[in-house]
Amino acid sequence: MTKRMHIAILGAGFGGMAAAYDLARAGHTVTIYEAEDYVGGLASGFKEPGWDWSVEKFYHHWFASDSHMLGLLDELGLRHKAQFPRPYTVLYHNGEWHPFDSITAAIKYPGLGWGLDKVRFGLVGLYLRLSNNWRGLERSTVDAWMRRWAGERVYKQMWEPLMVGKFGPYAKQVNMAWLWARLHARTTNLGTYEGGFQAFADDFAAILRGMGVDIQLGLPANEVVKLPGGRLAVTTGDSQTMAAYHRVLVTTSPGLLARLTPTLPGEYLKGLLGLKSMGAVVLTLALKGPVSPQGYYWYNIPKEAGFPFLALVEHTNFVPKENFGGQHIVYCGDYLESNHEYFNLTEQELLERFVPGIQRINPAFDISWVNKVWLHRTKYAQPVPLVNHSGNIPAIRTPIEGLYFASMSQVYPWDRGTNFAVEIGRRAAREMLEDNAGG
Ligand SMILES: Cc1cc2nc3c(=O)[nH]c(=O)nc-3n(C[C@H](O)[C@H](O)[C@H](O)COP(=O)(O)OP(=O)(O)OC[C@H]3O[C@@H](n4cnc5c(N)ncnc54)[C@H](O)[C@@H]3O)c2cc1C
Repeated sequence: MTKRMHIAILGAGFGGMAAAYDLARAGHTVTIYEAEDYVGGLASGFKEPGWDWSVEKFYHHWFASDSHMLGLLDELGLRHKAQFPRPYTVLYHNGEWHPFDSITAAIKYPGLGWGLDKVRFGLVGLYLRLSNNWRGLERSTVDAWMRRWAGERVYKQMWEPLMVGKFGPYAKQVNMAWLWARLHARTTNLGTYEGGFQAFADDFAAILRGMGVDIQLGLPANEVVKLPGGRLAVTTGDSQTMAAYHRVLVTTSPGLLARLTPTLPGEYLKGLLGLKSMGAVVLTLALKGPVSPQGYYWYNIPKEAGFPFLALVEHTNFVPKENFGGQHIVYCGDYLESNHEYFNLTEQELLERFVPGIQRINPAFDISWVNKVWLHRTKYAQPVPLVNHSGNIPAIRTPIEGLYFASMSQVYPWDRGTNFAVEIGRRAAREMLEDNAGG
């Protein structure tokens, strides 16, 4: 027989909020504890006075294939606020930028020559788009698989720069299912939410509050402990406050779950601590003029080209600059290990490092164009899936009865993204409801 549960969710990112939605709809009492004083987690944004839209701290867009996210927007009655402009992505080759986000653009791209390599690139891409066999692919690394099937030149030109840029020291160890998932599920049409992702997070939180969900902001959880009698206690804030719940869902990083629940049995804990991830450092600039004279949105930059960042993203070539008081918003970002020096530099120091890179894209760029900069960093940005990774994914149901875990590290074979945060949050809610129905 099902009973009405009191459930705590740790984290008000899209995973936690999606879980809260289904649990509250099923009639349960939900409290969300969020460490920050805003909702949205990694997809949250900030807004200056005079801006109509927020800017994401880390560049964000949806793909037209993000069915879990678009389905949720439908359910929430917010789909009309999703917008899908057509921004342009470019690749660097021999000192020039070439569009690379359509079949025609790929055919014209000079980096692959005009012969067999281009055909192999196309056939391998088509195979990955159509195949569903990611389990077979996870047994190989991208490095080995692509060299074999796409050939040395295609790998060196197209895939190695992506792998090195995203995964640094792990580039040669990441499994082929990761690349399959990106090519299989992504589209060139990119989407956002009217007002920015923070506006969506705020609209979602308002709907949840309207359903009775209690969202406690600025209240980090410190510990989750099993109480005699079976309930779970969550201590928050200064640790003086403790509340008991039938079930607890944690949506933070695996490392933080391990710290929150030191009593997790050895194997599960070992699995959490064995997961690898990359961090991200993103400097956002508000500028007087555009960096991209051609109106490009996303500059993909191979590490070997020697730029001080991996990607330059001109947000206002995706959404209109009028949303930001007429300023041009540009991100310079990189995926890095958490001990990289960029995690210790100040905004100003990073800006000084980045200016020469921006000038290589637009020689007219001058530091006097910069109105303001913001620096955002996270040590948990991109899970790293090694060979046969499916065997390493921690179960949503942890070995502690009543304690569940849903994070970016578990959406594999898919790559992390708000779409899959929604999917795993809802999957966790389903498992909690099934367990409640089962006694
Ligand atoms: C650089 C970068 C670029 C990205 N680009 C895209 C993109 O283009 N499109 C896309 O869809 N996705 C993108 N993502 C991924 C997307 O942001 C994540 O997949 C998604 O936001 C994860 O949601 P989540 O709820 O699982 O986790 P989070 O958003 O990490 O939510 C976890 C929450 O837990 C809170 N928390 C932490 N500790 C505690 C504690 N002790 N107690 C209570 N709360 C706590 C955190 O503050 C946070 O709000 C990007 C991510 C990064 C880093």
